[in-house]
Amino acid sequence: MQRVFSGIQPSGIPTLGNYLGAIRNWVPMMADHECIYCVVDLHAITQPFDPKTLATQTREMAAALIACGVTPDKCTLFVQSHVHAHARLAWIFNCVARIGWLNRMTQFKDKAGKDRENAGSGLYVYPNLMAADIHAYHATRVPVGEDQKQHLELANDIGEKFNHDYGVDFFPHIEPMIQGVAARVMSLRDGTKKMSKSDASDQSRINLTDDADTVALKIRRAKTDAEPLPGEMSGLDGRPEARNLVGILAAITDTSPADVLRQHEGQGFGSFKNTLADALVAHLSPIQSEMQRLLADPGAVDASLRQGADQARAICEPIVDKAEELVGFLKRS
Ligand code: ATP
Ligand code: MG
Repeated sequence: MQRVFSGIQPSGIPTLGNYLGAIRNWVPMMADHECIYCVVDLHAITQPFDPKTLATQTREMAAALIACGVTPDKCTLFVQSHVHAHARLAWIFNCVARIGWLNRMTQFKDKAGKDRENAGSGLYVYPNLMAADIHAYHATRVPVGEDQKQHLELANDIGEKFNHDYGVDFFPHIEPMIQGVAARVMSLRDGTKKMSKSDASDQSRINLTDDADTVALKIRRAKTDAEPLPGEMSGLDGRPEARNLVGILAAITDTSPADVLRQHEGQGFGSFKNTLADALVAHLSPIQSEMQRLLADPGAVDASLRQGADQARAICEPIVDKAEELVGFLKRS
């Protein structure tokens, strides 16, 4: 059975982008893969965050995942900082990855913005920690959104360089699994920017916890153009906002964008947006009720995360111990 690893930062409430691009694809993989899913809090402190709310956000992210179907008894679900092997391997990878490789990472450029000199060094080495998350488990498949493709290529470069430098065949090749029409859900305010849970504007995204009125309002206010919907995909060329809304409806109703266009050809955005908002509310409300039910008993969520961390440690500690032995560290006695 192939081993799968994926993670999500507790950097806010999960968005529709996280759900359609990543979380939703995690669930079916549990049937025929050994799945390891992680709330990556070490990653979340690479950007401004509030120490008073980080723990709560971490638990809420875990509850959101469980509510979306990432059931802890069918996978290993845990919090990254609870398993120290991630940070140990990340340090080794900081020494393997080349600065030139990190300089090419577009996520760092986007997140650091103009004031790059002032960005935290953790943000710069973020991809090395992500490589460690995956390689610590010898995972071979990683379901992510399109934005993480470059980081996964880097993770393979790091694994290959480690293998080459130490003359071993230790870290396997990682296969990114970037799936479906919603692998890149765009911001509701700007069709050229991806939807992000850490975006300053709450209007740019649908949060999984948004109530029906909020969803309807955000969709109604979503940027669009004045043209009606075309009958064919080519009619969406140069219309990123229209393409995004069509893609979201297709993903949420399990159909293709071409089918959505066939059904809504000639419709204006006024009525199309109503259809979209209704479909979103119908899809999200059971997830929201389940999340509330789970969070009514925070101790139970924490207990399943503790068990997940025990399972994770059992897999990754021998692998990271071996990596340290290959590097030549004196064995702990
Ligand atoms: P942040 O803004 O803090 O980076 P994020 O919304 O980008 O938050 P992450 O925790 O970085 O979320 O990523 C979790 C998963 O969600 C990753 O697999 C990522 O590729 C995926 N993802 C993030 N944004 C989108 C999006 N707009 N469309 C599809 N997938 C996405
Ligand atoms: Mg991100």
